[in-house]
Amino acid sequence: MISVQSNDLNFPLVEELMIPSEKVAHVQVGNPLDHALLVLLKTGYSAVPVLDATFKFQGVVSKTMILEETLGIEQFELDKLNDLTVIEVMKKDVPCLKKDHSMIDALYKLIDHPFICVTNDDGEFDGIITRRTILKQFSKHYHETLKRA
Ligand code: AMP
Repeated sequence: MISVQSNDLNFPLVEELMIPSEKVAHVQVGNPLDHALLVLLKTGYSAVPVLDATFKFQGVVSKTMILEETLGIEQFELDKLNDLTVIEVMKKDVPCLKKDHSMIDALYKLIDHPFICVTNDDGEFDGIITRRTILKQFSKHYHETLKRA
């Protein structure tokens, strides 16, 4: 087991590792669920960020949340896909990061979430940081530094 002192290492900032907002698929609070499901199916992501009309981050919506909402007692009630909007099913209480947080702050939050949204001080959406990015970073660091130590 390799012991690493965090202050010995120069961990990158969230800003350096995040996927910028223009490359992130998202839906808006007022979108009907069928639109959100289409975005999720077409992109292949299990969840995406939810923004409002002013580009502020509001929460996260997933395929599971949408399917659970449409599941009736004995069958799927597909009318609900048209009748309900994203704001009615999304998860609002999710952690966020700021661009100047360190990769280690992201690492702790990514234990429980596949991606974390990055926002500015006004709550506007800047991008996301994913588990894959952090794992790639640790793999790179291991091969470049720790393996040689
Ligand atoms: P990954 O660690 O790359 O598997 O990504 C984890 C999760 O982050 C995915 O399942 C998606 O929910 C989300 N995600 C990754 N990249 C994007 C993107 N470009 N746009 C929207 N969501 C994304």
